[in-house]
Parts: sequence; C-alpha cells; structure tokens
Amino acid sequence: MGPSSQPVLLPPQLFREGVPKSEEEWQAAGREAATLLSQYIAINTTNPPGNELKAAEWVKQVLAREGIESQVFEPGPGKANLYARVRGDGSGRPLIFLNHMDVVLASPEYWKVDPFGGVVKDGYVWGRGALDMKGEAIAQLMTLIILKRAQVPLRRDVIFLATSDEEIGAGVGAGWFVENHPDLIQDAEFLINEGGTIRADARGRIEYYGVGTTEKSPFWLNVSARGTAGHGSRPTPDNPVHRLVRALNRIASWQTPLVVTPTVERYLHDLSTIETDATRRAWLADVRAALRDSTAIRALTADLTYNALLRNTISITGLKGSDKTNVIPPVASAALDVRLLPAQEPAAFLAELVRVVNDSAVTITPQGPNWPATESSADTELFRAIVAAARARDPDALVTTPPLTGFTDSHYFRRLGIVSYGLSPFPLNQVESRGVHGNDERVSFDDLTFGVHFMYDVVSRVVAR
Ligand SMILES: [Zn+2]
Repeated sequence: MGPSSQPVLLPPQLFREGVPKSEEEWQAAGREAATLLSQYIAINTTNPPGNELKAAEWVKQVLAREGIESQVFEPGPGKANLYARVRGDGSGRPLIFLNHMDVVLASPEYWKVDPFGGVVKDGYVWGRGALDMKGEAIAQLMTLIILKRAQVPLRRDVIFLATSDEEIGAGVGAGWFVENHPDLIQDAEFLINEGGTIRADARGRIEYYGVGTTEKSPFWLNVSARGTAGHGSRPTPDNPVHRLVRALNRIASWQTPLVVTPTVERYLHDLSTIETDATRRAWLADVRAALRDSTAIRALTADLTYNALLRNTISITGLKGSDKTNVIPPVASAALDVRLLPAQEPAAFLAELVRVVNDSAVTITPQGPNWPATESSADTELFRAIVAAARARDPDALVTTPPLTGFTDSHYFRRLGIVSYGLSPFPLNQVESRGVHGNDERVSFDDLTFGVHFMYDVVSRVVAR
C-alpha cells in the first residue's frame, strides 16, 4: 500500500484568512504550527533508512489543502524530495525555503517521552526533529501558508523544498536535487535553511540573532600504514599497527596554526559588544591582537567553538587494525575528520599533514565528503530584512553571522550563486540547544509562535509586493 492511499487527518486551521495582526492571532498560528509539528514528528524519518517518502506525502497533503501544488520526486525506494512553487509576478527572483525531512537516531531509553510520539505537554512539542529541523520546516511552511491564505501579492516566487538524506551527509537529498533538477531552482536569488541561531539567555532574553552565512568544509582523510603480516606471538619489526599509532600520535599532538578569517573576526567583534567580562571583551574586540598573547590564546581556544573557528581542526575518529588479537595485519588504518576554514587550500593542508607524519610508509588520502567552503555575502536585501525584523522587536537587537563549525546542505546552493542563509527562527538557550541530536529535543509553543511570526516578518519583507 502506497503512503498516498492512507488518508491523513490534518489538524484544524486555526486562523482563517488575512495575515495575523494581533498577538492572539499569531498565537493561533503558533498553535496550528504546534499541531502540524506534532503530526510531522510522529512520522519516523530516522536516517538510515529515512523513509522520507511518508513525510513528503504528508507535506504534500498539507500543501494541497491550501491549494498549493507540489511534486514529489522519488530518487530511490522510500526516498523523496518534495518541491512546490508559489508564483509571484516575476518582477523579483525566487526565494527558496530549504528543509530536510530526515532526522538522526533517538534512543528512547534516555528520553522522558516517546521521541516519535508527537507528544505535546508542558507547553512544548517534544520529539526527534522538533528543532532539527522539522520545527524549522513547519515555521517555513506556516509562512508559506499565511502568504497563500492571505493572498498576499508576491513579487518573487516562493519555493518550498523538503529533502532527504541531510543527516547522512550524502545520498539522494539536496545534492541529488541540485544535480538532477537544477532548472527548478537555479533562477532563485535567496535561500533560507537551517544553520543559524537566535541565542537567548536562561531567562529567555535574546542575546543575538545569528544568521549563518558560511560554514567550515569537511576534508575527511584516511591514514593507512602498510607492513608485514604475521603471528602476534612473533613480532615483526614493521608491524603496521605500531607504525600507524606513531603517525597518529604525531597528528594528535600537532597544533594546527591559528587563522583569523574576516567573518570570524567580524563575528567575535560583534560578540564583544555583549560580553560583560572586560578582559574577554577586549580579546573579542581585537582577536588578532589577542592571539599574540598566550593567556588569551589559552582562554579562547579552551572554548570548543572558538577553537574550531580559529583553526583547521582534526579529530581522529576511526581505527582499524586486526580482527584477531593474535594476528598482525598487513595494513592498519584510521579515519580523520578534518574541517577546513574558508579559503584554506586542501592540497596545502594535506602536504603539511604529510610533513607532520614524516613516514613514507604511511599514506594519507581524501575520503568521502570534500568540497571547498562556501560563503554568502551579508550585504543583501534578505540580510537587511532580517535586521529590520529583529530591530522591529528590539531597536538594539544584535544581528551577527556566526560561522558554522559543521555543515548543512547550503553549500550545494551557494555553489549555484544563490545567497543562502542559515536562519533558525526559535530563540533557544543553551539547555534547549542541547536537544539537537541529543535527548528530549523539544520546542515551546512560545518559541513556535515567535518563530512563525519572525519568519513571516523576514520573508514577507522580501517577497511581498
Ligand atoms: Zn539539520
């Protein structure tokens, strides 16, 4: 039985027509978002295998009820990418809402609720994907629904693109779509995706609005050592496991050079304006000067995020030797998760690593995800719309551009010249942020209401006539 043969009971439409005006009307839109999100979470799209087709069929029905047509592409069994386009008058180029339908594994034994129950309680919608990124997808979807229900005249087309396989970093999702259907998206000027943060303090006060304009790029490597196989009872002088361990020891003790990119410099300078500690404020305000001072270097690089933003990083993550304790294998290998800052040359980094290892019997080769880092300008109409929407809420709001240490699907679109921003519309404090890929992932009604309203304010400024 195909998924489309199962009728889905969609939640009630809580506001009917026109753009919400009062706080009560926005709360009704927020409640509608909450019921949609609860249904969406209950479609288990843990990847692998993903089963995104079921999610796509649900999104298709939600859109159809609003009179929005969509196409579902099926690049593989159970896999899907959904594409919808609401037309404007063509005087401006399109804006894309990008969101992935898949989620990462949840281990129910560590959760207070069933991660796929779509549980609504204590003012929160709970479940895997509530933040990453079914919740964000619903804020995007509600924005599109409000534009459509209110019949807002548009000067740009608005494209809604829900994809597979973001969480496995490969496969048949956004990359597949860009490769196979570039004609459907390449006229776009702007794209909104995950990868931003609105950071709130413990009391819920917004510290800054973070827009993701750039991210580090993966440069994953395989390190392997060859030697002579044999019986573990008679050691060989060139045991490849010993050789690999020596190489990895050199890699692990290597401090990669500190580098200050223009975006990181600007971001840290922005953070200095809200830093309360005077010493740290001075470091952040002029990080180039700070990195000439060993005390500042120690303090700044002790912060895992700052450290990852100030250098290329290496995490040794995988190890493979013999399957048997008494067998010396002919080869031993390790996996390195290397992340490069924008404008860093992969070949030059590799040459430097080979010099550090300094052993011709050890080979280092690129493996898996590997592309140059991409960046979108912050000098755009969309960025100015985000600033305007933030300042409408607080005239002193700080809007900044935190670079991501990880990566999203934005790079596929930036490479087509589409200005792509990470814009997550929920103000999250540190505890709430831990739900992403962690336990008890959840989003509050208040944040959903804020998120729908904020996303609508940003996007309507750019797409409405
Ligand atoms: Zn995500």
